[in-house]
Amino acid sequence: MNEIISDKQHEVSDTTSNSGSTDGTVKHDKALIFEMSREGRKAYSLPPCDVAAVPAESLIPEKLLRKKPAELPQVYEVDVIRHYTALSRRNFGIDNGFYPLGSCTMKYNPKINEDVARFPGFAKIHPYQPESTIQGALELLYTLQNDLAAITGMDQVTLQPAAGAHGEWTGLMMIRAYHESRGERRTKVIVPDSSHGTNPASATVAGFETVTIPSGPDGLVDLDALRAAAGQDTAALMLTNPNTLGLFEEQIVDIAAIVHEAGGLLYYDGANSNAIMGIARPGDMGFDVVHLNLHKTMSTPHGGGGPGAGPVGVKAFLAPFLPKPLVIRAADGTYSFDYDKPQSIGRVKAYYGNFGILVRAYTYIRSYGPEGLRTVSENAVLNANYMLRRLAPYFDVPYDRVCKHEFVLSGKNLKKLGVRTLDVAKRLLDFGYHPPTIYFPLNVEECIMIEPTETESKETLDGFIDTMIRIVKEAQENPELVTNAPYTTAVRRLDETQAARKPVLNCTCG
Ligand SMILES: *Cc1c(COP(=O)(O)O)cnc(C)c1O
Repeated sequence: MNEIISDKQHEVSDTTSNSGSTDGTVKHDKALIFEMSREGRKAYSLPPCDVAAVPAESLIPEKLLRKKPAELPQVYEVDVIRHYTALSRRNFGIDNGFYPLGSCTMKYNPKINEDVARFPGFAKIHPYQPESTIQGALELLYTLQNDLAAITGMDQVTLQPAAGAHGEWTGLMMIRAYHESRGERRTKVIVPDSSHGTNPASATVAGFETVTIPSGPDGLVDLDALRAAAGQDTAALMLTNPNTLGLFEEQIVDIAAIVHEAGGLLYYDGANSNAIMGIARPGDMGFDVVHLNLHKTMSTPHGGGGPGAGPVGVKAFLAPFLPKPLVIRAADGTYSFDYDKPQSIGRVKAYYGNFGILVRAYTYIRSYGPEGLRTVSENAVLNANYMLRRLAPYFDVPYDRVCKHEFVLSGKNLKKLGVRTLDVAKRLLDFGYHPPTIYFPLNVEECIMIEPTETESKETLDGFIDTMIRIVKEAQENPELVTNAPYTTAVRRLDETQAARKPVLNCTCG
């Protein structure tokens, strides 16, 4: 491999053996544990058994007994450790490097939040313990319900939903129950064409029909299209604000009026809350229901579809429909679960939600405080605008105006050179960066969606920007260098569908 490939090559490649292939297999790696196996090697040493042996047959029914020993690798302890350590190093995470994935970004995950979630008083309690013995945990839930209501401008909050999409569905089920309680049959949910895929999916699962409206040339909701779509059958409009282009819907008050006049409700997809926390509140913009993605906005590492929390806040008139139980506080200061909600849509999650994630969010809010949350949003927006301005001369900028916490570029100009947005993303891997979100939102051709987040230094931002500019120059001078990337990763280009559906996890040496 020559120097042109990557100047970070030594850093990236020392955890791999640089022999990636294009079919998804790793050709050789000294840490592959089955290949290291040698008859008779053990990773443990135990004293001889000094109790009378009970024959396994007397404890386990014959048909469940193994006919031959399990095919496990036979290796030394150090080999096991090296194997798992090598695998863990192949993971890319926020603790390895810059991670500017737009929209679903991994943001700040303070280690102290991890410590707090592991306190025995939080981690070792049982969900069905008597309420008198878990007053601290209940106080945390109660306070978090109220904090999230205050941050979003809502009246009451449920902490049960386990993800943003789950929150969307919960919110829509409440909207449905509300319309039905008034004897109204409203079957349609309006979404803009820039909406996240979960919006129409949740609407469908909640039994609604989705109506997609096109964005205007400015990337914002087209009010005439909205007026034309809103009517007697409108149950709700689902909106992200700022939207997935990173643009604030400036006409939100008019949008809310159009939907409310038609008798529909406004649903706020809060995945982008880190752009407005402490500055603006969906409740004040006219939204009736809000979900937050705590695992995006308020810490918790969430790669690989890991655990999340999607609390939902509602205005008072929707509170009777909230999932039960909610945590309430009696006049004497004791906390309890309130199941007395006859109009509730019911329970939407086992127990009370993903408690560990809620602890992290609580810790996040408490350690920042109101001013700190506002600073988070201000810096997220500042970083995004800095990056947009520096990258704008090198890419197509479909919406060239001040953005919020993220922005989109288009790789249309590179397409003419035979280099696609996918190639740029693959090339970034050679320099040790997690690529941005690509090909989303769907209404931007060759879309590259970048969210730098608030925690990165100017040097880190500049390093990424300079690398993007370098890749543009490579595309102009030597496009194959980009279209054949990556070079330094354990595997090269994969058939991503096959890699997910039929992963090849063992060594196919030779
Ligand atoms: C991530 C995201 C969602 C879905 O949230 P999950 O927690 O992944 O289910 C919805 N809308 C937007 C804009 C998002 O970024």
